[in-house]
Amino acid sequence: MSDVETSSLSFFSKKPTACPICEANFYKEDLRTGRGRLIAGDLTEELRRLYEPSKKYGAVYPLIYPVMVCPKCYYAAYPMDFSEIQEPTKNKIEEDTDRRISSIQLIFPELEFEQHRTLKEGAASYFLAIMCYDFFPPEKSPTIKRAISALRGAWLFNDLDQNFPLENYDYLSKLFYRKARFFYILSVEYEQSGKEGMASIPNLGPDLDKNYGYDGVLYLSAYLEYKYGPRKDTEMRKTYLNNAKRTLSRIFGMGKASKNKPSILLDLARDVRTKITEEIEEEGENGST
Ligand SMILES: [Zn+2]
Repeated sequence: MSDVETSSLSFFSKKPTACPICEANFYKEDLRTGRGRLIAGDLTEELRRLYEPSKKYGAVYPLIYPVMVCPKCYYAAYPMDFSEIQEPTKNKIEEDTDRRISSIQLIFPELEFEQHRTLKEGAASYFLAIMCYDFFPPEKSPTIKRAISALRGAWLFNDLDQNFPLENYDYLSKLFYRKARFFYILSVEYEQSGKEGMASIPNLGPDLDKNYGYDGVLYLSAYLEYKYGPRKDTEMRKTYLNNAKRTLSRIFGMGKASKNKPSILLDLARDVRTKITEEIEEEGENGST
């Protein structure tokens, strides 16, 4: 992609943002919308919206922009949290700076957060956000934010793998899917126990085009269990699948309430429920012979 095309795809804010951790100033980058830049394609079973490459702009990845990253200390968070950071969290993220920088350098030795982002900076932004949200208090709903970040990271590492097939990005994509599974299931547990809500988050995505809300979170936690959960221990697997099935039933739970839910989500949830039921029954038959 040439520089001209890249620069007409996104823009930097005129006003600088000051990093609350290291005080460096930087300019936030955002995607320009309109004029045929985004040509919506299919929705995947992971609720990801795909985009067709346009003739003029080539492949466009809206997901590389949402996380703000300080180019100096690599503190990363979503815009709603970036500057609103309290003392204990701030101190911990500051103390973690060296570890944060050296961890991401193992994957990407060179990153350019002060220039137009590429898939690499995009994937890195989610890696860094997962590290930083570890230190946020429960009222900021860090677990679901880590879950969404891990899923988006898995998608972008998968995109990287398609662009650079020899760099082992597929391995990282799988790692992020497993992280996503872990954090999605934990988010549902925390929300049920009252430990950590997610009602204050305006958009649970998981992608940028539509908010599938709490039902989307329930669906993804079950889908990710089915697809990326541990399989070695068959008894464990069965327990996990039964839990996932119970989670899915909460989407349909309230009878008439499901009328107002997006039909695509209900269809996807039904599909996964069928697949889970089949696997449990198959395992039961194998176990009894
Ligand atoms: Zn900084």
